[in-house]
Amino acid sequence: MADYYDLLGVPREADAETLKRAYRRLARQYHPDINKDPGAEDRFKEIGRAYEVLSDPQTRSRYDQFGEAGLGGAAGAPDMGDMGGFADLFETFFSGFGGAGGAPGPRRRGPRQGDDLRLDLTISFKEAIFGQERDVQIRHLETCTTCSGSGAKSGSGPTTCGTCNGAGQVRRATRTPFGSFTQVAPCPTCEGTGQVIADPCNACGGQGLQQVRKKLRLNIPAGVDSGTRLRVAGEGNAGQRGGPAGDLYVFLTVQTNSQLRRDGIHIHSEVSVSYLQAILGDRIEVETVDGPETLEIPAGTQPGAVLTLTGKGVPKLGNPVARGNHQFTIKVKLPTKLSSEERSLLDQLAGHHASKDHPHKSGLFGGLFG
Ligand code: ZN
Repeated sequence: MADYYDLLGVPREADAETLKRAYRRLARQYHPDINKDPGAEDRFKEIGRAYEVLSDPQTRSRYDQFGEAGLGGAAGAPDMGDMGGFADLFETFFSGFGGAGGAPGPRRRGPRQGDDLRLDLTISFKEAIFGQERDVQIRHLETCTTCSGSGAKSGSGPTTCGTCNGAGQVRRATRTPFGSFTQVAPCPTCEGTGQVIADPCNACGGQGLQQVRKKLRLNIPAGVDSGTRLRVAGEGNAGQRGGPAGDLYVFLTVQTNSQLRRDGIHIHSEVSVSYLQAILGDRIEVETVDGPETLEIPAGTQPGAVLTLTGKGVPKLGNPVARGNHQFTIKVKLPTKLSSEERSLLDQLAGHHASKDHPHKSGLFGGLFG
């Protein structure tokens, strides 16, 4: 299905009023009772679906963030209560449109909690280790400032619902071959509240919410890793009718580092030493997340040996005093070319070893590492 905004021919920042106008115009144009072109009916349904999603600030915000994927699943399913709004709107233009008078089903009209939102954030290798304050831009729904969340145009307020006279319930008699039954159902006009907004706020279309861009300062603690989820309480979408706001969840991705590899709270890297350093031992400078440090290479260090600098790893999340280690895998460089002086010294050494330890072996490797 095409983009909902494209379908309605409105920009992404269109307000409730613009959406409604665009929808009304297109619904008239493609209504199957009027337009007999092949494809008109499908188009009509698509327009209806687009408006249904975009006219509800909650589903609109999910659609803006995740596209159609955001509308599936339990949390993302459009509130059935709002489908009725779609049908009602319709009936005002096409009286007699079949189905619009059908039972709307139970409606939830009490306080409604705002949705939780997700923000994906990529941070550097070092930021993850030592923590960082980061400013981020988010978009979420806030209580409409024009109507203070009431949904009513200023100066007006909710009025008593004419359908149920404020009771919030309607009785419906159903005749069946077994007799007549009276059903009590929430009033379809006021959704059970007993009150209606006769004159909806222009800024929010009566939903009491508006999309707002906001700058947030995130405090990323030391020791986070890819997959860490930070919760920022109350920075999700605002609730409706007095419901609490949702939370913002920040999902972190940590960039890799070309030299350092992270494994939980430990850091691994490779360090190269010469064959002489490996044999004789040395002290070398190595890179750690704390900057250059001295690593002691013991005499007789073997290729592939792992040497550890304690406490130079990653701070434990929630307990930054405890830190992991930095482990160095030792690579031993062997010369590919020898100067004549080196060659003669090594020849002497090889001869010395050959006569002493392994009379049948000779050569550099046999002598040194055999
Ligand atoms: Zn408003």
